[in-house]
Order: sequence, then structure tokens, then C-alpha cells
Amino acid sequence: MSRILLLSDIHANLAALDAVLFDAARRAEFDAVWSLGDAVGYGPRPNECLDRLREIEAVTISGNHELAALGEISASEFNPFARFAIEWTASALTPESRAYIEAMPLTAVHSDFTLAHGTPRDPVWEYLTDIEVAKANVDQIETLHCIVGHTHVPAAFRVSRDDTELWPGDGEAVSLNGARWFLNPGSVGQPRDGDPRAAYALLDLSEMVVEFRRVEYPIEETQRQMEAVDLPDMLIQRLSFGR
Ligand code: ZN
Repeated sequence: MSRILLLSDIHANLAALDAVLFDAARRAEFDAVWSLGDAVGYGPRPNECLDRLREIEAVTISGNHELAALGEISASEFNPFARFAIEWTASALTPESRAYIEAMPLTAVHSDFTLAHGTPRDPVWEYLTDIEVAKANVDQIETLHCIVGHTHVPAAFRVSRDDTELWPGDGEAVSLNGARWFLNPGSVGQPRDGDPRAAYALLDLSEMVVEFRRVEYPIEETQRQMEAVDLPDMLIQRLSFGR
């Protein structure tokens, strides 16, 4: 196992997920897929996205949207748009999808990496937005590195040798050698850094290099699917802007 496809915050956006899987397969052969949570919520194709993750035998952890869809955390903590979408998602999930989500752990450890949706300290709610949050989470992991999602913004924070915050764009590669890193591949299905293209990353374990990628997908297709099931207009529009 040397090349890992990193996915996060797919948010039931099947067109974006398929574009990412196609781009990643063309770019490099990957041996495993790690998905950092929030595969569902906001978007129109939750069951299909979960089916894809099962088909490619992804390592998956749970995000706040999975837990809310299962009723394990209260949707009252969500903003009204997210709550509406979560209630729709809960009603749309098949028994197979529910069982798949129920089996997802909150954190996982693979090789030198701890995986958590928010942070290792609080996988459900905390946002790893800057180097200070990363440093506050160093004591929470037994591995050298950590990979998170939840913010929907690609990021790489170096917390050992010196404190560095990187916000990698398309095609930027980061060498992990000689330091401790907290990584976020960005969001496949609802980017929030102003770039509407789907975000993902490829992690090469033998070189210890992570490459951040952006890929265009048919945004209108997802927006039409959202309109067809009456998801909130705000959630539909934001996909055009990546905000
Ligand atoms: Zn999310």
C-alpha cells in the first residue's frame, strides 16, 4: 500500500465524486481510499455516493452529517439549511446505507496517520482551521501525522520543526518528511475556498508526499438533482461559487 486517495466532505455530490475518481485513476494508480467523513448531507445522491465508497472498499470514518442523519446527534445544532438537508437525507437513506454509516468509526489509524473528521480531540464538531488548533491536538494522537476534513478547505499545517500553514492549490505537492503534519484534502462535493472545483489529494506513502488536486465537474447536473428533490436554494447556489 503506497498510494492513497484522500477524499472528504463528498456531501452526496455524485457528479463531483465520479469526476474525482476518474481524475485520480488517470493520474496515478492508488492502492487504497481514505474518506474523512460527511459523505452525505447537503447533496442529492447520498445512497449512490455511499455505494461508490463501498465499491472501492474505502476506509471511511463518520462526520457530523452521518451522525445527524442517523439521529445520533441532534440536527438542532445545524443551521436551518443543513438541518433541512439532513432531514431529507435521513428519509432518503436505504437500509443498506444506514447500516454502512452505522459501522463507521469516529476515528481510525492507518500507517503513520490518524484520521478524524473534525479533529482528534473532537471529531464531530471542532474545525481544524489554523495552526493553533493543530498544535492543541498533537497530544491527542499517537501517530506522527493526522488527516481531517470538515472545513471544506484544503490545508497542510506543519507543527514540529516550525509552525507553517499552507493552503495548497491545484497541483501543489507537499513533502511530509522530517516534520509532523495535519492535512486536509478539501471537499469533494462542497468546496468553500472560493474554487468551485472538486478537491481531493493523493498521498504517496513511499515518498511521503501529498499532492493536492482540483477537478472540474458538471456542477449544473448536481444542482438540477438538488432542485428535483427540493433542497434549499442557498445550498444549490453555493456550489457555483465554491463558498
Ligand atoms: Zn462537511
